[in-house]
Formats: sequence, C-alpha cells, structure tokens
Amino acid sequence: LSTAAEAVAEPIKPDISISLTKLLIDGKFVDAASGKTFPTIDPRTEEIIAHVAEGDVEDVNRAVKAARRAFDKGPWPKMTPYERSKILLRFADLIDKHSDELATLESLDSGKTYQQSRYAEIPTMARLFRYYAGWADKIHGLTVPADGPHSVQILHEPIGVAGQIIPWNFPLLMFSWKVGPALACGNTIVLKTAEQTPLSALLAGKLLYEAGLPEGVLNIISGYGHTAGAAISSHMDIDKLAFTGSTEVGKIVSQAAAASNLKPVTLELGGKSPFIIAEDANIDHAVEVAHFALFFNQGQCCCAGSRTFVHESIYDEFLEKAKARALKRVVGDPFQNGVEQGPQVSDEQFDKVLGYIKIGQEEGARLLTGGDRFGQKGYYIKPTIFADVQDGMRISREEIFGPVQAITKYKTLSEVIQRANDTTYGLAAGVFSKNIDTVNTLSRALRVGTVWVNCYDVFDAAIPFGGYKMSGHGREKGIYSLNNYLQVKAVVTSIKDPAW
Ligand code: NAD
Repeated sequence: LSTAAEAVAEPIKPDISISLTKLLIDGKFVDAASGKTFPTIDPRTEEIIAHVAEGDVEDVNRAVKAARRAFDKGPWPKMTPYERSKILLRFADLIDKHSDELATLESLDSGKTYQQSRYAEIPTMARLFRYYAGWADKIHGLTVPADGPHSVQILHEPIGVAGQIIPWNFPLLMFSWKVGPALACGNTIVLKTAEQTPLSALLAGKLLYEAGLPEGVLNIISGYGHTAGAAISSHMDIDKLAFTGSTEVGKIVSQAAAASNLKPVTLELGGKSPFIIAEDANIDHAVEVAHFALFFNQGQCCCAGSRTFVHESIYDEFLEKAKARALKRVVGDPFQNGVEQGPQVSDEQFDKVLGYIKIGQEEGARLLTGGDRFGQKGYYIKPTIFADVQDGMRISREEIFGPVQAITKYKTLSEVIQRANDTTYGLAAGVFSKNIDTVNTLSRALRVGTVWVNCYDVFDAAIPFGGYKMSGHGREKGIYSLNNYLQVKAVVTSIKDPAW
C-alpha cells in the first residue's frame, strides 16, 4: 500500500453484478406495489450502486399475508424440528459457498473492509445459523407438578409472524441474529433491511429458499423506516417485533407496537460504552484493544468503547501511544488489502460525525489527531482522538457512531464506577486490569449487558447480547434469544382416578 489517499482516488471495481434488487415476498422477487425504487449508494464514490424496489405499506401487507399463511397453514411450524434444522444447516453451507459474493455486496453497500466481511462476518453468520440449527430440535417444554389431580404440560410454541427491523452497520450479522433464532423456533418472518444497505440480505434470502425454506416463511422488504418500518411495527397481524437501531426510533416502534396489538418488543439500541484502563494494565495491549474497541467498523458499533477512562498514573503515556496508533491506522478503499478503515456508511452519518468533531472542539476537548475528512471523495473521516474529555460534554454523552475516540482520566475505582454508570445507556463495557479484585469489582458494578475483560468485541453465537437502561431490553444470541420467539402454553389435564 503506497498511500491510503491513492486508494481513495481510484476506487477498486469489485467483481460483481447486482442482480437482486426486488422485494422478496412469498418466496418470489417482486416489484413494489407502487413501482417505486430508491437508490443505494457506494460510500466510497458517492455514486449509485443500484436502484432497489421501495417497499411501503401495501408491500408490508402482502408480506404479512404470505408470512401469516405460511405460519397458519404452511408446513414450517409443523415440520419436524430435525427437518428445520437440516434446512438451516444447508443454508449455512450455502453461506460458505457464496461467501465471496455475500462479502462483496456487504462491503460495497456499507463501506466496511472486504477482509472484515469475508473473513470475520460471513463466517460468523454461517456459524450462527449452525448454532441455531443445533437448537431447532432441542427446544422443548416442561412437565410441572401441581397441587391436585392434574397433569401439567408446559408447551413452548412458536410465537407466530415475527416483524424484524435491522440497521445498516452489520447488515448480514443483524439478519442472522434475528432470522436464525426465529426460524429455529418455527416462526415466519417479515424483515425490513436498512435503506442504506438493502443488497446483501436479498442474496441471503435467495439462498435460504435454495436451502429448502417453504414459501412465505421469510419475506424481505427494502425501504424506509417511516413508511415500511412503521407499517411493520404497527401491523395488527404481526405477533412479535424485534428492532435494532437508534434509541429514538426504538421508542417510536415500541409505542407503535403497543398502540396496535401490544405485540412484544425486543430492542437493541445505542450505547456509550466505557472502556476502563486501570493503573496495572499492560499499556501497549490496552492501547491496541481500546483503539479496536472504538475504531472497528469505522466506529459504527452500538457497543463501541466510546468513553476511554485511563488511570491518571498512565494517562500521558496512554495518550501518546493512542495517538501514534491512530496515526498508523490505514484508511482507504475497503476493497484494498491492508486497509483498516473504509468510509462511513452514508452522507448523513458522515455529516453527523463531522458535526460531533466540531462540537468537541467547541466544547474545549483537546484534539490530539484527525478532526476532518480524509480525501476529497467518499465518506472517509480521519481517525480522530479527543483528550481531556469532560463528562458533561456532548461528545461524552451522545452516541457519535464514528471514528472519534474520547479519552478522559480518572483517579479512583469508586469515582470511575460512578462516572462510567452516569449515562442513560448500558450496553457494554471494557475493563483492562491484571488485578482480580479490580476486575471483579468493576464487572459487577457496571450496569451494562456485556463486560469484556482484557479483550473487546468478542462475539460468539452462544453469548447473549443486549442492554440495560436505554440500550434496550431482551437479549439476542445464545439460548436467551429463543425465548423472544416462543410462546409458553400450559396444558392442564385432569387425572380421573388419582388413586390407582
Ligand atoms: P435508525 O434507528 O433510524 O434506523 C434503524 C432501522 O430502523 C432502519 O431499518 C430504519 O429504516 C428503521 N426505522 C427508522 N425509522 C423508523 C420508524 N419510524 N419506524 C420503524 N422503523 C424505522 O438509525 P439510523 O438513522 O440509521 O442511525 C441513526 C443513529 O442510530 C446512528 O447514528 C447511531 O447512533 C444509531 N444506530 C445504532 C445502531 C445499533 O446497532 N444499535 C445501528 C444503527 C444506528
């Protein structure tokens, strides 16, 4: 790699033609009822990749009808769990087989590096479907003792038609976290992708049908939130809603779900996760992991370690090393080998992040490095670090969702616990220390859904993920996700002659 700026100047043309741009309803690719389309943009070039069918209320209605029929009358919920499991396993094999294509679409539409898509996210997606294929035939109820002559069975049944709304930062992983458990439990689905990244899920949907999914079980609507998304959250014939995105929209969809048919909602929302580095931490390791915790995926992670708390005794050394690491970060065309950071997903996010950088400067935080766009074309932003960030500053309180690290110093453990918890969010935290007492104290005191100790962003199909406070409710992945997609039915049968 000569210079990253050159990589931006001449974008690489990925070897792919875009063939899937329609809505996937009832197992077929169809135009939107309105005939309308919307453009999806290559964030490297700001040019249109393709025009995609724009789903709206009528399309959501068609999709729900198909999903309803597939649930009420189709073979999917009644199929033996082993058969369902085999379909999910075949899908995982097809993900492996088509991983180049899936990764290319994912990176083209979102700007994340091809290396990350191809060698981390697509294999993780296949792993996740294999994990939930494994659960399909292990979901079972209970028998419970009751007072009196009764036999009591607790049945775990699929919940019905699941509405799922996903964001643009991890399009295929969010697809997997939602579709995997819902299908394993025998539900049918209407899924809306984010308007910024509609392409990869359409290929994933096609492959699921190739794997043997019965018609109508998975329906995919591309389109906007206030139209198609709102139609899903307020639909009277959708039995459950799963949403990932901003806290602001999380409130809107919860209200719509309650005001329509009170469908249960799981929410995975924003965060402002603390990353705490104690005085005894290995500084070089902590610098590297804190860098990764924030800059991974262009900083567009709900769990980004976006408040870096460093003990005062190592603060100056940490700042120097964090700055050197950020300056080394290779920004450029995400299809070029060796590039660590591509463009932000959209012009809107690009403007939002640059806006926060300006706010940080106005608020008096010390800009250590970065601070503006990278190159002249595409939504690239220089890796940026603010030091001496104060807790009251907006860059310390609000989700920036970009490559902007905010570093602050602390003195005592009780002080850092109080400051780390002083946020409306509670998604995740990082703790760096070799002292078992420090680790135990922090990991129990922090009010967050995940604590990573001496590591960060370790995701596994079996590990539950979700938030405290306004980072959402419910958990995805692992065994916990199954409960989101199951109803519990008690069958109480009178026993005629208990005195046998
Ligand atoms: P968003 O919440 O608007 O979008 C997420 C999804 O919700 C998309 O599919 C969108 O179309 C849909 N949606 C939007 N309005 C809707 C409505 N009224 N009814 C139903 N669905 C609706 O997020 P965004 O605007 O793309 O990003 C804004 C901010 O949200 C980001 O800057 C970031 O802070 C945060 N965000 C968080 C996550 C996460 O993983 N928690 C993901 C993306 C964005």
